[in-house]
Amino acid sequence: MDAVSAEHTKLYFYENRLQTYSGWPFEEDCICTPENMAKAGFIHTPTENSPDVAQCFFCYKELEGWEPEDDPVKEHKSHSPACNFILLEKSVNELTVEELLKLQKERQKYLIKKTCNQVIEKFEEAAKKRRGDIVKKAIDIAQCQISTYTYSSISLPPHLWEPTYKSIKSPDCVTSKGF
Ligand SMILES: [Zn+2]
Repeated sequence: MDAVSAEHTKLYFYENRLQTYSGWPFEEDCICTPENMAKAGFIHTPTENSPDVAQCFFCYKELEGWEPEDDPVKEHKSHSPACNFILLEKSVNELTVEELLKLQKERQKYLIKKTCNQVIEKFEEAAKKRRGDIVKKAIDIAQCQISTYTYSSISLPPHLWEPTYKSIKSPDCVTSKGF
């Protein structure tokens, strides 16, 4: 993979970041205009419900809930203080190839970290759902046993309640219907 190919480095350039802004809600009479957002390293990454999501192309920090008076540079520094791009002291056009390569290496680290976090989040979500399913099933079984016990208590003579309540199913019990 060529780390400094045009494709991999295109977002280092202001014009390319600016082109991502379509339908950005803050165009006039505000500080977080597309121009200022792009200068601060942000690209526009809207979702269906959040038209104002912006992400730093370098550290992949996503920010939303922008207010017209928010300063993109200040917001970037406060939410991602270690971002190498926002701390850059010269323009991208002045960087040497070696400096660009070093930067690109740091950017890759951010990307790996973000990808790992996404995998962990997905795993945790799946585990949470699975735990919920197990608890729900346990509750269903417990309720089923209670209702079976009640049913058998009503329909059988008292001397048969205890030994048979586990084997007789209530008509309302979901497990007796093949669920
Ligand atoms: Zn950043």
